[in-house]
Amino acid sequence: MRVTFDDLGLAKPLLRAVRAAGYEAPTPIQRDAIPPALEGRDVLGCAQTGTGKTAAFGLPLLQRLDAIADEETALRALVLTPTRELAAQIGESLKTYGKHLELWHTVIFGGVSDKKQIAELERGIDALVATPGRLLDLMGRGHVDLSKIDVFVLDEADRMLDMGFLPDVRRVIRELPPTGKRQTLFFSATMPSEIRELAEDLLDDPVSVAVAPVSSAAERVDQRVYFVDKRDKRRLLVDLLREEALEHTLVFMRTKHGANRVVKQLGKAGIEAAAIHGNKSQGARTRALDGFRSGDLNVLVATDIAARGIDVEGITHVINFDLPNVPETYVHRIGRTARAGASGVALSFCEVEERPYLVDIERLIGQHLERVEGHAYPPTEPLPPQTDLEGKGGGGGGKKRSGGGKGKPRRSRGRRSGGGGGGGGRGRRGGGRGRGASSGRR
Ligand code: AMP
Repeated sequence: MRVTFDDLGLAKPLLRAVRAAGYEAPTPIQRDAIPPALEGRDVLGCAQTGTGKTAAFGLPLLQRLDAIADEETALRALVLTPTRELAAQIGESLKTYGKHLELWHTVIFGGVSDKKQIAELERGIDALVATPGRLLDLMGRGHVDLSKIDVFVLDEADRMLDMGFLPDVRRVIRELPPTGKRQTLFFSATMPSEIRELAEDLLDDPVSVAVAPVSSAAERVDQRVYFVDKRDKRRLLVDLLREEALEHTLVFMRTKHGANRVVKQLGKAGIEAAAIHGNKSQGARTRALDGFRSGDLNVLVATDIAARGIDVEGITHVINFDLPNVPETYVHRIGRTARAGASGVALSFCEVEERPYLVDIERLIGQHLERVEGHAYPPTEPLPPQTDLEGKGGGGGGKKRSGGGKGKPRRSRGRRSGGGGGGGGRGRRGGGRGRGASSGRR
């Protein structure tokens, strides 16, 4: 039987919001994670961006906050996520899903002035979406108190590890109420050992939900590899963008410098493109993304970290200008296309030094990329033999852990007086970008 949103135990205002967002049926992670999360269970979710995981934690979080909301706002929920783009998107999602509830949230991340963020915090919020660095900074200066956190979401834990944020994450966690006195929803696309250990420390008898293992995007994407010399990659890229009339293309580069150079080169060839990476200002990143989303800009050149949080519908092509040396990164990259069941094309340029990376990638995804032969820039070195796919186990996907047990007791509501109750008249309705405000408690 097909599960619908109505079957999950969600409150009416959330169902209305989900319907208004155009979602017809829950995705697998939503179907599996929402009911136990609503019961108050801890959840260990193995899912990557694109699976609908934001709603999988966002909807239960909002429902729980709504149930315990006092007249006066107090910070009860924290979502920790690695990048500013992800933080902004989660903020937007909470705004969408929470539009019929009177809950306040804000988003804080680095790279922009903290003034507005501090002002929002001072006005009182129920939920906070944050990147670790800026959160620690504002905690250190007394602007954030995590002692009343009731729901803690750790998003993209493996990416936190990749980006070197794990020590910061642990510092934040030390300030939360202990495990057992809060609900923890933990999401990671892969489960390397450090992440598994962190999950064990953080979670109390969690329900495990593992959907869309990291290699599944590979099944939907049409993947081809061009063996090419390093010096010919740019010309190949120009030719492809020009001749193949690639529409909505995301080009991946290992380095920021390389990304800038390629954008310049494309410009010279009359192809408009923008780079998005960590050295770009927030304004420049937002402009590039908006241009790409609106279709004004067909080509975006990104580094892996910058691309992690990009949520753009309708990417038709991913081009791996460089092959990543971590094979899971390849899967994350190609997962940018073929979202929500659509199919996409991923083209990879493989120079001779990158051939070992290709072997690792093909083993992880358990298939060979189709070789494009007879293209304009054949490699100096003859093509290598095809990978033996059995060479080594693939897949960084998570193991299932599950447990019995039951939900934990709710925190008592402890009515407080005063505050801005009644009709949400706090003058922040429909706030600016990345800032959530919702209206009209039933
Ligand atoms: P996420 O994995 O949370 O980044 O979500 C990926 C995309 O899927 C976002 O654009 C969501 O708006 C969209 N989405 C999430 N849940 C659903 C659903 N049940 N039906 C259709 N689209 C969804």
